[in-house]
Amino acid sequence: MDEILHIPQQEEKAQSLTDRVRTKMEAASAVIRANAERLRRWSDAATAGGGRIISPVHFLAAAAVVGVAAVVTTVYTPAYVVAVDGVSLGTVASPQVFEQAVERVEARATEILGYEYALDGEISYSLALTEPENLTPVAEFENYLFDQIGDVMKNYVLTVNGQMIGAAQDQETLNLILDQVKAPYINENTISAEFTSGVYITQEYTASSVNQDADAMLAALTANTNGQTTYEVQKGDTFVGIAADNGMTLSELEALNPDTDSSRIYVGQIVNVKEEVPFLSVKTVDHVTYTEEIDCPVVEVEDDTMYQGQSKVLDAGVPGEQVVTADVAYLNGVEQERTVLDTQVTREATNKVIAVGTKVRPTWYPTGTYIWPVYGTITSRFGYRSVFGSYSYHRGLDIATAYGTTIKASDGGTVVWSGTGTGSYWSYGNYVVIDHGNGVRTLYAHCSSLLVSTGEKVYQGQPIARVGSTGRSSGNHCHFEVQMSGTPVNPLAYLG
Ligand SMILES: [Zn+2]
Repeated sequence: MDEILHIPQQEEKAQSLTDRVRTKMEAASAVIRANAERLRRWSDAATAGGGRIISPVHFLAAAAVVGVAAVVTTVYTPAYVVAVDGVSLGTVASPQVFEQAVERVEARATEILGYEYALDGEISYSLALTEPENLTPVAEFENYLFDQIGDVMKNYVLTVNGQMIGAAQDQETLNLILDQVKAPYINENTISAEFTSGVYITQEYTASSVNQDADAMLAALTANTNGQTTYEVQKGDTFVGIAADNGMTLSELEALNPDTDSSRIYVGQIVNVKEEVPFLSVKTVDHVTYTEEIDCPVVEVEDDTMYQGQSKVLDAGVPGEQVVTADVAYLNGVEQERTVLDTQVTREATNKVIAVGTKVRPTWYPTGTYIWPVYGTITSRFGYRSVFGSYSYHRGLDIATAYGTTIKASDGGTVVWSGTGTGSYWSYGNYVVIDHGNGVRTLYAHCSSLLVSTGEKVYQGQPIARVGSTGRSSGNHCHFEVQMSGTPVNPLAYLG
């Protein structure tokens, strides 16, 4: 540093005042730099382990080093190296730690195997010094001990709703079985497939005899649980048909319904049927796009030439078409819910036009239904009958009741006869004939009196005559006929 401070005299003389000031400042900063350099060298010497500790910073650093050394010394504790049959297994803080691990393994093995299990082998402990982080984790002892039990093995275990189905050495085997359960319900449109039960794969110790047959596991998961439900018999059902619809044989259905006579089932009867419920149910959602028909909107046009209640299709219309995108949820392949996401109409439907009658229906307008003209005892039915030992054809129904009882029009219409029979009609006595249109007529005979005239319009239920025994009659009754285009038919087929 001397050479820096040495400034030749001649050069100093030649310098201007400013130059001289600058030179002096440069010299001063050189001194400061030199002092800093000396300080750095001392500092290096102290860190290197030299005895020249001169500043408070150095003192504190040294104190920390001494403190760490003291802690390390106190945590070196006596420990035990465990050996079973001479094989060293690890280090424990106390024999109790290892003995508790043995007890836990024995208890779990007893649980798995179903019989009292005790580990054998001679345990020895030898004293050693170790640091806490070098003590053997208890789980390592337990794994080692489990591995010594031939009847117990570590497996991937498949459990459904808490019930163990089986086990496999690798998880993939179990995943493949689960995939096979789902496979029948999955197609190219399926966007999700889930089990409705809690399905778990866990890694745990099991008995070596645990079911590891993949086919058997698949069979257990897809087995029908033989759920039973009921079915209400509908019109047209047969016992054989009900069996077929539910995937059962006739004898299976009979077995489920021991108290039912299979040849005499009736509408509304409740029968037991089998329901296909697999052990493990699969819920899938398919994302589908399909074309469907759009119904024609119905437009009604009033028509005063037709009676109220009458209608006529004027234009059937052309159904439209739309492309629907939907998510369809299935349970074991049976549709549960359909969520329509989008609808694109590709062809609008045209209107279906129906003319609807507005004309007020006259009271006499035939209803097409027939009521009993009188109530009483049926003394003679329609058809062939034996009278005084010889067969004859009876054209109507004889309803016996008190003399003078009101006879009502069976339906509305026009009275085409009201009078006393003559010639071949003499046997009817006083009788009424009503025309109901469409070739249908009704006839009421043997009346004591007549309440309507020929040509008169009568409404259904209107009194038209009174019961008597005129003409060829053996007592008070109403002889009632229904004629179709002039031919008598059985009135009982028309009376409500
Ligand atoms: Zn008769």
